[in-house]
Amino acid sequence: MGAATGAAAQCAGPYQYNVDEMEGSVFKQVLVTTRDEIERFFNFRFDAFCMDEEEYGAYYDIRKNTLVVGTEFFLDVANPPGNINRAIAVIAHEAAHAFQTKHGLLNMLIETNPHRVKCIELHADFLAGGYMGWRARLYDITLSNMTEMFFDLGDAQTGNDGHHGLGAERFLSFRQGYQTVTDDEITLSSMGIAYVSQAKCD
Ligand SMILES: [Zn+2]
Repeated sequence: MGAATGAAAQCAGPYQYNVDEMEGSVFKQVLVTTRDEIERFFNFRFDAFCMDEEEYGAYYDIRKNTLVVGTEFFLDVANPPGNINRAIAVIAHEAAHAFQTKHGLLNMLIETNPHRVKCIELHADFLAGGYMGWRARLYDITLSNMTEMFFDLGDAQTGNDGHHGLGAERFLSFRQGYQTVTDDEITLSSMGIAYVSQAKCD
């Protein structure tokens, strides 16, 4: 069961703490439940899920197989009340990078296209959408609220190697994944690859 053997996976940064070690609260419960559900959906495990007091954003640490979410960022995205699913969609996007890593898709998506970051990001948006669409069968979720957020997460740095995708491309990719009905993560991923390649992520 997870960190039972040897040294428990640590949250490395000086401003990080492990979600498992948080005091019991609604906040903790949402985080733990979300992680468990996402791990089940994507069929993998993080070594640790860390909150970070200094980071404003979220990322997947490939070397440590760790999910890191900025505390303030999480709270901002989740507020006002009713927006918790936006925060969960951000976690799902980062989990998608863990899934891509596990299945060797990072290299594959790089080979598909020289603008590797954008292909990888749009595929992760598609996977996050697929997860949220699956989740929508269990919980009350408003799609427009999340697509708006992915639109806002877009950037216009089209000439830059770090370009993640225009707002419209990100929201369309997320929505396409959301509307893909499957609980098989491999099928979802393949459909996502087909989608990003026909959407020409360059
Ligand atoms: Zn990403």
